[in-house]
Amino acid sequence: MKQSKILIPTKKEAPSDAEALSHKMMIRAGYIYQVSSGVWSYLPLAYRVIRKVKAIIREEMEKADAFEMETPSMLPADLWQQTGRYEAYGDTLFKFKDRNDREHILGPTDEEVMTEILRDSIKSYKKLPLTVYQITDKFRDEPRPRFGVLRGKEFSMLDGYSFAADQAGLDEAYNQQAQAYRNIFDRIGLDYKIILADSGTIGGDNSQEFSAPAKVGEDTIVYTDGDYAANLEKATGKFTGVQQTAEPAKLAKKPTPGAHSVDEAATALEIDATQIIKSMLYMAKMGEDKYQPVLVLMRGNDEVNETKVTNAVDCEELTLATEQQAQKYLGAHPGSLGPVGVGEEVKILADNYVKVLVNMACGANDDGYHYVNANIGRDFRVDQFGDFRTVQEGEIAPDGNPIKFTNGIEIGHIFKLGTGYSEKLGAQVLDQNGRLVDMIMGCYGIGVTRLLSAVAEQNADEYGLVWPDSIAPFDVHVIPVNAKKADQMKMANEISEQLEKAGLEVLVDDRKERAGVKFADSDLIGIPLRVTVGKKASEGIVEIKIRKTGETVEVKTEEVANTVQ
Ligand code: ATP
Ligand code: MG
Ligand code: MG
Ligand code: MG
Repeated sequence: MKQSKILIPTKKEAPSDAEALSHKMMIRAGYIYQVSSGVWSYLPLAYRVIRKVKAIIREEMEKADAFEMETPSMLPADLWQQTGRYEAYGDTLFKFKDRNDREHILGPTDEEVMTEILRDSIKSYKKLPLTVYQITDKFRDEPRPRFGVLRGKEFSMLDGYSFAADQAGLDEAYNQQAQAYRNIFDRIGLDYKIILADSGTIGGDNSQEFSAPAKVGEDTIVYTDGDYAANLEKATGKFTGVQQTAEPAKLAKKPTPGAHSVDEAATALEIDATQIIKSMLYMAKMGEDKYQPVLVLMRGNDEVNETKVTNAVDCEELTLATEQQAQKYLGAHPGSLGPVGVGEEVKILADNYVKVLVNMACGANDDGYHYVNANIGRDFRVDQFGDFRTVQEGEIAPDGNPIKFTNGIEIGHIFKLGTGYSEKLGAQVLDQNGRLVDMIMGCYGIGVTRLLSAVAEQNADEYGLVWPDSIAPFDVHVIPVNAKKADQMKMANEISEQLEKAGLEVLVDDRKERAGVKFADSDLIGIPLRVTVGKKASEGIVEIKIRKTGETVEVKTEEVANTVQ
């Protein structure tokens, strides 16, 4: 393919707001174009990479007995209201009305529609287990879209859903997906870890995340050289939490005045609603039923507003918050999962954790009564949350090896959902004994466009991108040093034909640019192999260079295809 015919707007400088290496290089190499905050266009090179990623995904899904379909992005709000997620997702949801005033959303994930379809299509256990998937754009109004396509407001996701009539069926589908995910990430050439996720509230192997270690990763991964890996929440385990320091007498107890919603609380605290829900679940779990999930909003050091969480998050269940109930809740609200990140953002989140947790402690004494005018620091001491990270590097993990830390990018998530959605949407089948049972679901997701960022983070260098063979936009970059010289151009075209015959995808830099520009662009674009047709062309010799290692060899022109294969 001729480079002069492809839109590849390379740039000398990255935009000043680009922090991540992958973000800088994908822009400089002409892969992506920002349309607005968190919203991106994928230019031809990125598009080719995405196409290859999708092809790998499709092959592996088929091997895992999962079949592709497609549901719309535009979804009726009432369906999401039935499961409580219209409220639970809060501001993350894009909402709009059609001309008849009917409320809609843009799908951020797709459990509802898939459950509805399967409910109306499958009546008997004999047809189960069954796994469906799609690769479509998802929409989330992320509070902080950043790092290029790593966290977008619109992004491509592979999302799969399994339906089973019994636990064995769920396990089978889950294991097949887990294997497919390993195959996909192996083929893409990512360094990744499979981590236990969010088990403060759900046990063992119910949820696993695939995480790619990288400096800009927003999750903190705790791992060992053995087989232990977990997200921080999971690894943190117990905390001693909040100690009351003031006399109860000084803290007036009052009945809880009116009820407020999590969304209101989130707005007041200026955080994501899911963070509150998560904190509450975590606290309820850690407090072993002692605490009620009552929020008391604390703004600054003086004002206290009491808030009871009532809407959409199954407050009654949370109040009791047994392991079982937490599981059920989480099953119905997978969007609320996810570890707390690191860095500055974490401090804010950790701080908010404290607020929420303290409030839980304050609210714990009598049913319906809560302390007013209680302040962190003055009336309650925070023991652990000054230092959020309770697990220390070098500590011995459950597998007997010393613990290490790394930042990770969540690239995939697999999840045994249970029956939450089936119950709410009435998705039942007849089992072997002729009884109606709720379908047991699993859900599985990979951030397709985020993968590009993860791969770039792990492989790029100071000169540009470095793509693994399996997803590179082209296999070989052929560069006639001086395209004005007819013999060089001719040889470049011959080599290109030779390589294409051997089944390789070739980009020929036929532009009449200076050699320096061509080489710099070639490094930026990051095609695995470069064939330079230069001075020795007249002797029938060209140079092959490996982008990743910088190694070079000179070969005879007729040997190029044999050498690179
Ligand atoms: P995160 O913790 O990074 O916010 P998540 O846990 O909210 O991700 P899931 O609901 O598990 O995400 O979605 C499945 C996958 O979709 C994630 O593992 C991730 O790879 C990808 N993903 C999620 N949010 C985004 C986003 N805003 N931009 C790009 N990819 C995303
Ligand atoms: Mg997450
Ligand atoms: Mg998220
Ligand atoms: Mg997730």
